[in-house]
Amino acid sequence: MELALAHLDLDAFFASVELKRRPELRGLPVIVAGSGPRAVVTTASYEARVFGVGSAMSAAEALRRCPDAVVIAPDSAAYRETSAQVMAIIRDHIARVEQLGLDEAFLDLSDLHSPRSAMRRLVAEIFAQTGMRASVGIGPNRLVAKVASDAEKPNGFVVMTAQQARDRFADSPVTLVPGIGGKTSERLGLMGIETLGQLREVEPEALSIRFGPRQGPILASLAMFEGSADITTDRIAVSESRETTFDVDIASGPALEMELASLVTELSAALNKHDRRGRTIRIKVRLDDWTTITRSRTIDAATNDPATITDVALQLLRDYRPQRPVRLLGVGVAGFADAERQQQLELDLGEVAA
Ligand SMILES: [Mg+2]
Repeated sequence: MELALAHLDLDAFFASVELKRRPELRGLPVIVAGSGPRAVVTTASYEARVFGVGSAMSAAEALRRCPDAVVIAPDSAAYRETSAQVMAIIRDHIARVEQLGLDEAFLDLSDLHSPRSAMRRLVAEIFAQTGMRASVGIGPNRLVAKVASDAEKPNGFVVMTAQQARDRFADSPVTLVPGIGGKTSERLGLMGIETLGQLREVEPEALSIRFGPRQGPILASLAMFEGSADITTDRIAVSESRETTFDVDIASGPALEMELASLVTELSAALNKHDRRGRTIRIKVRLDDWTTITRSRTIDAATNDPATITDVALQLLRDYRPQRPVRLLGVGVAGFADAERQQQLELDLGEVAA
């Protein structure tokens, strides 16, 4: 059986980061959500999920279902930091990694001697070093790996062939498969198809007639748990940013400027670590009424110098002059690709000159 790749997904990631620094909340229903009237749940601990609380639900609805839940404001800087630690551990173990978002990645297992034990060791290492639990799915392609990692969360470890996936999920709704969304499942429902097993039994021609010559065959292959095992590793970073949501909205200009300066310190440290420079400096401001703006300025030379970034970012903030209390502040540097091309050009010219 070919175990080509793994999908690794951290369990209740934001909530787990919060529980790690607030161990007194362990065992309680915890919801990470904003505080405004339109706030949504970003992550719920498994204790809160028991009450039917889920991601993307409004915080108000979540509290109606689970009135005793502890609500924590999202702290994206902390999640980014833990995410970077986890991804670094993964890259220490696995040569080819495709990161997706902050808390999941596809891992190429094709040249590992014993992929299962390697993945067991990796998960243990992630927990030992960061306190984060992960669920892992291993399979012959992305689709099987992804569905497998989801099948026994939290702390799942599921290895499956495509045939095993077909058997195990024959009675599952078609929406179990990423790529079959609400609209498609409604149209399938009109054809009397509710489950993946039923979808597999439809004549491929019938699907092509109903969904077209492109989407029809895709649906047929999704139902077979067939798909690509490719991993994209050459993701070119084009920007880097840091943002933070305040526990209490900030109305004072000087206090905001101090927050901005500390975000820049973090950002330029990250840029320096990877020797990245950019020419476009950007700020993001979200007001207490959820108005969100970004302002950016492009300077002459690519930089990762904290003083330069701070100067520009402060100027952008002063020009914007928030008219209401601020709930989120962010700063970023973009335009790396240009900077790298410019360096390459300089290098090429240097060689000619020598
Ligand atoms: Mg996750």
